Amino acid sequence: MSDLFSLKGRTALVTGANAGIGQAIAVTLAGQGAHVLCAGRRASDDTLAAIDAAGGTGETVLVDFADPMAGRDLFAGRDVSLLVNNAGIIRRADSVDYGEDDWDAVMDVNLKALFFTTQAFGRALIAREEPGAVVNIASLLSFQGGIRVPAYTASKHGVAGLTKILANEWAPHRITVNAIAPGYIATSNTQALQDDPARSTAILDRIPAGRWGDPGDIAGTAAFLCSGAASYVTGTVINVDGGWLAR
Ligand code: NAP
Repeated sequence: MSDLFSLKGRTALVTGANAGIGQAIAVTLAGQGAHVLCAGRRASDDTLAAIDAAGGTGETVLVDFADPMAGRDLFAGRDVSLLVNNAGIIRRADSVDYGEDDWDAVMDVNLKALFFTTQAFGRALIAREEPGAVVNIASLLSFQGGIRVPAYTASKHGVAGLTKILANEWAPHRITVNAIAPGYIATSNTQALQDDPARSTAILDRIPAGRWGDPGDIAGTAAFLCSGAASYVTGTVINVDGGWLAR
């Protein structure tokens, strides 16, 4: 039974693994037995220390997704069969004022880099005829509009769509593609909301679980989606939101 959830012998690449949700996912996948490549624009020393403490193994892979094609060469010569696309940014401004620079920066990291990194991963796996799993980190704003984050909302709706098309195309190759839609998780991504007493209270009042989420709340679902227990789960977006969308 426990083997159903084991990731022993697998190598996972987690983007944006040096902080927040990505860090929690990297540590959890390593705890389940995967060797974890922590892909980001700076060394993931804290994450690697936590992985080590959990008895796992990992390494930093430096890559900056501000260049949306930067993931092209990540999989050459590496036997990676699990990909977690977690790196993401948010830029806030009223839609009437939203600038092209902010639009392009958000779309490049959150959507274009995610697609071309996943394309490279899929190409490598299909060439090797090996099964694998992709887990995309989507958002409640894959379903809802949000406020003052037009590029982020567009990018995360796009992530949900890409999850479905890639699932359709790659199911015959035994590659599952799923997404997680985190609710409101206390990380630097939501610092502006946490610091705004009115928004913070309004958000908390609507969460049935009665608390903001913790990065660790997302990690178990990611580990499940990477595991053999989820081999017939593909094309889904799983809400991990303390009940927010049910309300
Ligand atoms: P976070 O703490 O700000 O982490 C974001 C991660 O993405 C960091 O590791 C960051 O690296 C990395 N990243 C950003 N730009 C990058 C680039 N150009 N190249 C490489 N890595 C880059 O925020 P988080 O909340 O954990 O966010 C993780 C994911 O969850 C994002 O996709 C976010 O949209 C999504 N999400 C978060 C929430 C929430 O409530 N927190 C809700 C829904 C979805 P640096 O440290 O170098 O910046």
